[in-house]
Amino acid sequence: AAKASGKNRVALYSPDMRLRIEHKASVVQGIQEALQRGQIVPFYQPKIDLVSGCVIGFEALARWRHPRHGILTPSAFSSALEDPELSVEIGETMLRQVGADIHRWLSQNVDCGRVAVNLSSVQFNWVGLANRFLNILRTADVPRERLEVEITETVFLGRSTAHVAKALKQFHDSGIRIALDDFGTGYASLIHLKQFPVDDIKIDQSFIRDLETDSDNAAIVLALIELGASLGMTVVAEGVETTAQARFLKSKGCQQAQGNLFAAPMPAGNVPAFLQGWTAPPL
Ligand code: C2E
Ligand code: MG
Ligand code: MG
Ligand code: MG
Repeated sequence: AAKASGKNRVALYSPDMRLRIEHKASVVQGIQEALQRGQIVPFYQPKIDLVSGCVIGFEALARWRHPRHGILTPSAFSSALEDPELSVEIGETMLRQVGADIHRWLSQNVDCGRVAVNLSSVQFNWVGLANRFLNILRTADVPRERLEVEITETVFLGRSTAHVAKALKQFHDSGIRIALDDFGTGYASLIHLKQFPVDDIKIDQSFIRDLETDSDNAAIVLALIELGASLGMTVVAEGVETTAQARFLKSKGCQQAQGNLFAAPMPAGNVPAFLQGWTAPPL
């Protein structure tokens, strides 16, 4: 339609835009149905201590078990994760399942360590976030020391700092760890690291990629490791795919790593056997 209306006319909606709008609407509808049908489930990816080689815990990552398309990652439903209402529903669905999984593992003497859940920034618009989160854990009968929340720097954008600080303090005071995810890609001023109770910083995978060949990435990673060390935070590298990356990170004092080198995200049912069979790759 835009083309037909002539070269010098500005079309209000390009066909491409319309497609995107329709796509977003169908994702929202699709996710609502998926939630009702129990198709949104957590997969678990281990976090490894680079010194001991032990599994410290897992990160829960949302997956859509789609009846026709198979296992979909969040890139297929990112608009739902940023939707004010759906993000809350997805968050609760995830946390309830994570709580049930942790409870089951602990009752079977499977030491899953600490499990991290991702919170999207829009979830912080909701004043009841921390209370609701803690209530779900209570119902699941899971110690809060088994949980971590991963937030990104965008949580500090366009939101009352006092409100975000209150929620984070409530999490932290109850024993839940706080990780700043995708660190280095966002808008965080270093002030945030001082002002908020951040325990871990996760170096974004875009800096880990090409670590051996890109000296800029190597320099950034080094600086982040040193920053974390001097602020007393644990530094976690994301998206570690090669032994060389893991060796570099370990030699520079990065404490923890996560990535396909160790294990890809797996369904809850695979976690006990994974833990039992785990032997650290030599680094
Ligand atoms: P994230 O929290 O930074 O998670 C790390 C992403 O890296 C995951 O993508 C993970 O599968 C992927 N990854 C792990 N190891 C490797 C590797 O070796 N190489 C590469 N290239 N990638 C690796 P995933 O599962 O597609 O999730 C994408 C993002 O979606 C997450 O990024 C997180 O921001 C968001 N997300 C996932 N689950 C949830 C959730 O339950 N709630 C919310 N609000 N967001 C979620
Ligand atoms: Mg994360
Ligand atoms: Mg990340
Ligand atoms: Mg990421």
